[in-house]
Amino acid sequence: MPVGFIIFFIIVAILCVAGFVFTFAIMFSPKFKAKFMGKQIEASKYMIDQHKNDIKSISDNVAEATKGATKTTARAIKEGFKDTVFCKHCGAEIDTDSTFCKSCGKKQ
Ligand SMILES: [Zn+2]
Repeated sequence: MPVGFIIFFIIVAILCVAGFVFTFAIMFSPKFKAKFMGKQIEASKYMIDQHKNDIKSISDNVAEATKGATKTTARAIKEGFKDTVFCKHCGAEIDTDSTFCKSCGKKQ
């Protein structure tokens, strides 16, 4: 067997063991996990800082593309908050604070 092969297999074995150790350390050591996650958060903060303009442009595009859906949702929420009662005369659904029925016109 050539020496290159043996060295290659040793390196692969070392990487496998390192991978297992890393995985188990993350699974069982809260302290290590916190340290690792801290690095990831730092990296995310750095990336966000480096690409502020791209992120702004993406959120602007998303806001523009979903304008209609946002309006529909807002309208539905507004409708959901509105208190309604039923007309004493015709049974139509009317606002709680309305004096006259918008359907039959009679006083409540
Ligand atoms: Zn009515």
